[in-house]
Amino acid sequence: ILDALTDQVAIAVERTRLVSDLQDSRILSETERLRSALLSSVSHDLRTPLVSIIGSASSLIEADDALGSGGRRQLAETIKEEGDRLNRYVQNLLDMTRLGYGALKLNRQPSDARELVGAAVHQLGSALRSHLLVLDVADDLPAVDVDPILMQQVLANVLDNAAKYSPSGSTIIVTGLTGKNSLTIAVSDEGPGIAREDRERVFDMFYRVRAADGQRAGTGLGLAICKGIVDAHGGSIRAEPAKADGTGTRIEIGLPLAADTKGVA
Ligand code: ADP
Repeated sequence: ILDALTDQVAIAVERTRLVSDLQDSRILSETERLRSALLSSVSHDLRTPLVSIIGSASSLIEADDALGSGGRRQLAETIKEEGDRLNRYVQNLLDMTRLGYGALKLNRQPSDARELVGAAVHQLGSALRSHLLVLDVADDLPAVDVDPILMQQVLANVLDNAAKYSPSGSTIIVTGLTGKNSLTIAVSDEGPGIAREDRERVFDMFYRVRAADGQRAGTGLGLAICKGIVDAHGGSIRAEPAKADGTGTRIEIGLPLAADTKGVA
């Protein structure tokens, strides 16, 4: 009997070992998958604007005489726009790394919502050019207690998405609403919206909704970083349909109010 029991224990131990090996290898393969997804998205997303920058700079150098001042200006604008895009992307990657290590430092200060939105719009520059932007953010809203640089980045990511995933010529509305202890900044667009089953997952790293009409360029990092930054502030971020018929996307960002909500320091 003892022998039989010993055998059974040995078999059970072996099974447990196999199961844990399997789990280890699953964890490993998930890490591998994330690593290669990151690598391919990083190389793709760094490369696309770089190709455009190098191409425009080469045209400026080689065809200098043939280009009118309008042509030169256009090429210089492309270089600036793509440079800005690269900058945003690298900043996102840096934040993601800091979030991953729990090393994201918040430099909180009482900040004005309207100024934050304005700074994000300015940062995006021509990315919003083909949309009608409506800013419904009063200038006497109470101050929020946030890191203005990081929050500007959150707003830039959300606004960039609104423009990227809705038809050109359509309207993007930014509203500011005061609650009891928080202020909500909402960005609504007139795009196809996000299906109910994807509304939470879009905040996961690398999650991208497969669109019927082909996928737009992107990494699936933007909203995950937004959520990381907003959570670090003790705020909230969620996706809702913008319209009653379920279309459009409305991203709502709830932010804590500054202690002295009467004015901005
Ligand atoms: P990316 O835009 O780089 O793919 P994000 O993390 O910013 O990554 O967004 C994740 C996914 O959520 C996008 O791929 C897109 O499918 C969906 N999404 C985000 N914003 C919108 C929006 N305003 N309208 C429709 N879909 C959106």
